Amino acid sequence: MGQIVMQVKKVEEAGYSSALRGLSFNKKRTVKEMEKVSRKLASVGHGHNKFLESMIVWLEVKGPRYWWQEADTYRISTKQSESTMHTLTQELVNVRMDDGEAVASYIAENFEDGACSVELLKEIRVAAQGSDLIEIKRRLPEGFLQRRLWCMSYKTLANIIIQRRHHRLVHWRRFIEQVLEQVDHPELLPSLERLKE
Ligand SMILES: Cc1cc2nc3c(=O)[nH]c(=O)nc-3n(C[C@H](O)[C@H](O)[C@H](O)COP(=O)(O)OP(=O)(O)OC[C@H]3O[C@@H](n4cnc5c(N)ncnc54)[C@H](O)[C@@H]3O)c2cc1C
Repeated sequence: MGQIVMQVKKVEEAGYSSALRGLSFNKKRTVKEMEKVSRKLASVGHGHNKFLESMIVWLEVKGPRYWWQEADTYRISTKQSESTMHTLTQELVNVRMDDGEAVASYIAENFEDGACSVELLKEIRVAAQGSDLIEIKRRLPEGFLQRRLWCMSYKTLANIIIQRRHHRLVHWRRFIEQVLEQVDHPELLPSLERLKE
C-alpha cells in the first residue's frame, strides 16, 4: 500500500457556551455547573446529548475521492469543495509536460501514491485542453485528492468516531486522530479506543 493522504485542519469552532446555556435551561442550574453535566451526558445519546448539535466545527480536509465518497454518507453536515473541473482545466493545462520535475510535483500534490501515471495525466490534460469536461471526469482516478471545507456539529462528529474508528479504510483513523487533537472539547467526543471510554 502506498502512502495515504489525509490532512485535517480545524478552521473554526463555535457554540460551546451557548450549548451549555441551553443545557442549563433544562436542568435549571447555572451555566458553570453544566461543564460537569455536559461531560456526563455527551455519550448518553437518546436525546440527552442534544446540546452537541449546538457545537459546530469547520474542518478543512484534503483526502482522496474514494474517501470522500464514504464521508458523503453523513447527511447532517455541509461541505464546500474544490471543483474537479476548475482545478483540472485551469491548473493542468498550465503544467509543462516536458518538465519531468513539474509533472512529478503536480502528481504528488494532486494524487495519492500510484493513483495517477504520467500517461494518465497526459490523457486528462488532452481532455482539459479540449474543455471536454465529461472526459476529464471519466478519467479522473479515485485517488485524486480533493480539499473541502466540512462543517458539522459535535453530534455528527461523535457519530462518525463511533462508526469509523475501527474502519478498514485507515484514512478514517487518521481523520479522527487529527480531529481529536484539534477540537477544543475532545472530552465531549468518544475516544479513538473503544475501551478507554
Ligand atoms: C462499516 C460501514 C459500512 C457501510 N456500508 C454502506 C453501504 O454499503 N451502503 C450505504 O449506502 N451506506 C453504507 N454505510 C453508510 C451508513 O449507512 C450511513 O449512511 C453513514 O454511516 C452515515 O451515518 P448516519 O446515517 O448515522 O449519519 P447522518 O447521515 O449524519 O445522520 C445522522 C442521524 O440522522 C438521521 N437521519 C439522517 N437523514 C435523515 C432523514 N432524511 N430522515 C430521518 N432521519 C435521518 C440518521 O438516521 C442518523 O440517526 C456504511 C457505514 C459503515 C460505518
